[in-house]
Amino acid sequence: MKSLVLEKKNELSLRDFPAIDREEDVLGPLDVRIKLHTVGICGSDIHYYTHGRIGHFVVNEPMILGHEASGTVIETGSGVQSLKVGDRVCMEPGIPDPNSKATRLGIYNVDPAVRFWATPPVHGILRPTCVHPEAFTFKLPDAVSFAEAAMVEPLAVGVHAATKARIKPGDIAVVMGAGPIGLVTVLSALAAGCARVFVSDLSDKKLEIAESLNPAITGVNAVTGDLFARVMKETDGWGADVVFEATGSPKAAAQIFQPLAPGGCVVMIGGQPDPISYDAGAAMVREARVENIFRYAHVFPRCVAMLASGAIDVKPLITRTFDFDESVRAFDVAASAPPADVKMQIVMPS
Ligand SMILES: [Zn+2]
Repeated sequence: MKSLVLEKKNELSLRDFPAIDREEDVLGPLDVRIKLHTVGICGSDIHYYTHGRIGHFVVNEPMILGHEASGTVIETGSGVQSLKVGDRVCMEPGIPDPNSKATRLGIYNVDPAVRFWATPPVHGILRPTCVHPEAFTFKLPDAVSFAEAAMVEPLAVGVHAATKARIKPGDIAVVMGAGPIGLVTVLSALAAGCARVFVSDLSDKKLEIAESLNPAITGVNAVTGDLFARVMKETDGWGADVVFEATGSPKAAAQIFQPLAPGGCVVMIGGQPDPISYDAGAAMVREARVENIFRYAHVFPRCVAMLASGAIDVKPLITRTFDFDESVRAFDVAASAPPADVKMQIVMPS
């Protein structure tokens, strides 16, 4: 069966990929074999497609894309205890070295040895099956669909960011950027107890989608809406308790402290491949706390629990679904960044 292969920059094909079959021939005692069901298209997949690299990760050889996935367990290793054949699951795409210092400190996401799907030279999962450690595979309750489960990976970024922000009930938050990561951050901030979330973006369509998610969400156009003035006006001149940067734009990041309240926290989420300037004076007079996040560490179970209980609803963020046969077209559509779309997903053949 075929995989979606990024042959090189700007060239995708659906084809057999014998190397991955050989690599996955072996099922370790603590591994499970999973038949993939739904795979989300991530900004990073698109970036590898259109640029052939992200920072120092360069696609030098054909690579299978995809890392946001759900599926069904079809085989279990001899020592697997928590999962059985037929279980519906979602998978965490980054596998650290279990014995590394970072893992032992509980910060395995910053383990330099981590192997992350669809990050060269590691293949992704737009393919029929994969072998994955039990410890990074999470069973889904009946209430969580495969489509929602494939949203757990991006949602985990938002939940990790909200956790780092140490949100308190009633906090006011600002999220810069209403793309998929911006919107999962908005939902995570509300689930963590925020009374209100302002979200800014260049696209009015994205802001409309954001506002439709919850009445506590206010969209502000980043160009015409004067985010700073709006937040100050609606917080009696005090500012927001937490500001999340989810655009990756150096311009947005340069203004990150403007809407922040004294004693507030800024969380940097958007990737910045190059050094950016940062208003240290504005941070200082507020005694701002600045947090950085890189992916997430062990938040998948929380995400699954919140999807199951309804504390977070990601369904409105899934705006388009493609069959696996159409996945090259799906990537071209996603690369064109339609303003009315948030997350596109691919459903694998049954
Ligand atoms: Zn992703």
